[in-house]
Amino acid sequence: MSTHRHVKLLIVGSGPAGYTAAVYAARAMLEPVLVQGIQPGGQLTITTDVENWPGDTSIMGPDLMVRMEAHANAMGAEIVSDHINSVDLSKRPFTAVADSGTTYTADAMILATGAQAKWLGLPSEEAFKGFGVSACATCDGFFYRGQEVAVIGGGNTAVEEALFLTNFASKVTLVHRRDELRAEKILQKRLLEHPKVEVIWNHQLDSVYGADSPKGVEGINIKNTETGDVRKVQVSGVFIAIGHAPASDLVKDQLETHMGGYVVTKPGTTETSVPGVFAAGDLTDHVYRQAVTSAGMGCMAALEAERWLAENGETEGKDVSEPLGYGAKVEPAQ
Ligand code: FAD
Ligand code: NAP
Repeated sequence: MSTHRHVKLLIVGSGPAGYTAAVYAARAMLEPVLVQGIQPGGQLTITTDVENWPGDTSIMGPDLMVRMEAHANAMGAEIVSDHINSVDLSKRPFTAVADSGTTYTADAMILATGAQAKWLGLPSEEAFKGFGVSACATCDGFFYRGQEVAVIGGGNTAVEEALFLTNFASKVTLVHRRDELRAEKILQKRLLEHPKVEVIWNHQLDSVYGADSPKGVEGINIKNTETGDVRKVQVSGVFIAIGHAPASDLVKDQLETHMGGYVVTKPGTTETSVPGVFAAGDLTDHVYRQAVTSAGMGCMAALEAERWLAENGETEGKDVSEPLGYGAKVEPAQ
């Protein structure tokens, strides 16, 4: 059933950025409505120990996000289990249409849609997705009890995925395209000292091979980046962990983006190229991409939205091209 709701502030996304924005906006009496999306809690729900969230020496990612949701709720934010499939930021109030059929109009909007796992784009990777090729060890690691698996990548995610997989797999082979990992030193040390882990340096995934019936991975072909030689590694599962891309499809062609889709914000703020629309977290951050920096940006976005709403008031019927004072001037992308 299609319904219409007008809200002062709509927050899209339920990671650290979205929930922090909701806490601040609720305390500012903006009566925020937060739409969670298909991954309530965001990226931290697919990891295990988080060891760099201040105040917690170690906390499970999903537990931290349950706590953030409860906090936003307790402050008075309305949290909606739905997904926004389109937005119109060309006129105010802004419009957001949800899968449930609800159309939101909003005086201001905070976008905190985060990032999604990147894939290599190989046909064989696509063919075995869900049949031995995965981008989430926490979700799928359990299926590889006593089996050999490979992880592709050299950043924090790849190393954490590899270490997590040692809980199930008999052997974990990490394949990295260079001879040096990008991951934090503490993680590198844990990986390199782990008896179940082998690292294959200077190799790229060339293809995944396997059986059709029952469908499943039997191994990978990896190519030496220096010599071009291809060799086989027999594994039952492959975890692609080569980074994340910003989830900005929703606002493609409506907001200024750069560096492969990151939403541009005015330096030192969360203001986007459309006054009244703010962006926070991994959606806009190609540098830090951490839970704590995302939460910090969520705070900034709520404070800026509050100030912007106070100065611009109810926006119904206004054209976004009008000069709007605070937030109207946007610096070009750096
Ligand atoms: P995300 O957490 O990406 O959340 C995005 C939210 O937007 C989701 O709730 C999603 O459902 C929602 N959404 C997307 N599209 C829509 C839509 N159209 N409509 C409605 N909602 C939508 N960082 C650390 O600091 N410490 C760690 O230990 C750590 N470990 C990590 C482990 C893994 C495996 C990964 C992948 C990342 C890790 N990170 C870690 C990075 C951290 O998770 C991110 O920096 C952080 O989650 C970004 O927060 P965010 O709020 O910007 O977005
Ligand atoms: P990342 O830091 O961007 O690392 C991606 C890795 O994949 C790099 O090693 C990169 O190789 C490799 N790669 C990229 N494209 C590739 C390709 N086409 N073929 C082969 N390899 C490829 O991504 P991430 O590890 O997902 O981390 C994302 C952000 O989340 C980071 O800011 C990270 O700090 C954060 N995070 C933090 C934690 C934590 O704090 N514990 C945990 C997970 C993630 P090169 O090194 O050669 O570029």
